[in-house]
Amino acid sequence: MQKDFYDFVVVGAGAAGLTAAQYGARSGLDTLLIDSSDAGGQALNIFTLENFPGFFPAVKGRTFIDNMQAQAQSFGAEIALARVKSIDKIKNQFIIKTDKGSISCYTVLIATGAEHRKLGAKGEKEFNGRGVSYCATCDGPFFRGGKIFVVGGGDSALEEAFYLSSLTDQVILVHRRDQFRAQKAIQQKIKKNKNITVIFNTEIAEIKGGQKVESVVLKDTVSGEKVEQTADAVFIFVGMNPRTDLVSMLRKDEGGYLITNYRMETSVPGMYAAGDVRAKPFRQLITAASDGAIAAHQAHEYVTMIKNARTGAEN
Ligand code: NAP
Repeated sequence: MQKDFYDFVVVGAGAAGLTAAQYGARSGLDTLLIDSSDAGGQALNIFTLENFPGFFPAVKGRTFIDNMQAQAQSFGAEIALARVKSIDKIKNQFIIKTDKGSISCYTVLIATGAEHRKLGAKGEKEFNGRGVSYCATCDGPFFRGGKIFVVGGGDSALEEAFYLSSLTDQVILVHRRDQFRAQKAIQQKIKKNKNITVIFNTEIAEIKGGQKVESVVLKDTVSGEKVEQTADAVFIFVGMNPRTDLVSMLRKDEGGYLITNYRMETSVPGMYAAGDVRAKPFRQLITAASDGAIAAHQAHEYVTMIKNARTGAEN
């Protein structure tokens, strides 16, 4: 961090945070974007981004994020690698403590995203990194030509199964119900794909092996019957948990997502939330970017109000 005070601090450098940093800096706010790891968030897991309007033909998630970061920096946003430890509000300012020191600011945006939920199956933890994975683009190539199980029925599971089917002709997509919740367009792609076999009404009850995954125990959710099948890998996509540890004071919905109004304002004035950490009906890169733009616009209004009030008081 180059300074100890900023107008606008964004925590989390995924699509929402990067967009907010760009909009904030471009509107003239002294803007800092903080993340504990390289920018990108979940977009980095997207092998081909085919549904962001204007990006046609599709681009890689990594390319998309690299461009977003360069664009934010081109308008003057500063990006810092640091772990945020706490955020407190004192009068009209926020104090943000990180492992690289403390900074203050007028406004803060929580764009910390969400992390992969665990399945809770026996063996899942034990074989994590040895055949169990939560990222197909990261780990899929290790299992080229192998027998790969994918768990889940949402957009992530189906998109990732589709990607994995480019590496092997043995992708088995296991879903606990008899229908997917994923978007219809993605379901159609899966149906047409000869490398993917779908098994409905089934859970993975156990993941077994020695040094690495060797088999899975499948349980029929209707009959309760169990069968064991050989397996080389298990990719788990059963939803997300929002990262809200830093902001326990904020209002959340029953899923733990931060509640905002349509201006991205949280229950604390001057504090905004954007992207996957926010309660909303549709989590996409484009809705994350939209949230970020709105939050930055509001932050600009808020900072202007504070600065005007200070100038008025001084005159
Ligand atoms: P999600 O939509 O919440 O789906 C989670 C899936 O996992 C559901 O099918 C659920 O089953 C299943 N599941 C949950 N717990 C389970 C358990 N213990 N055992 C077995 N199955 C379990 O999560 P997501 O797919 O990660 O998507 C998260 C958000 O990102 C969504 O809003 C999604 O639209 C968005 N997204 C969009 C794209 C895209 O547009 N390209 C790509 C990825 C993600 P039930 O259906 O039975 O509840």
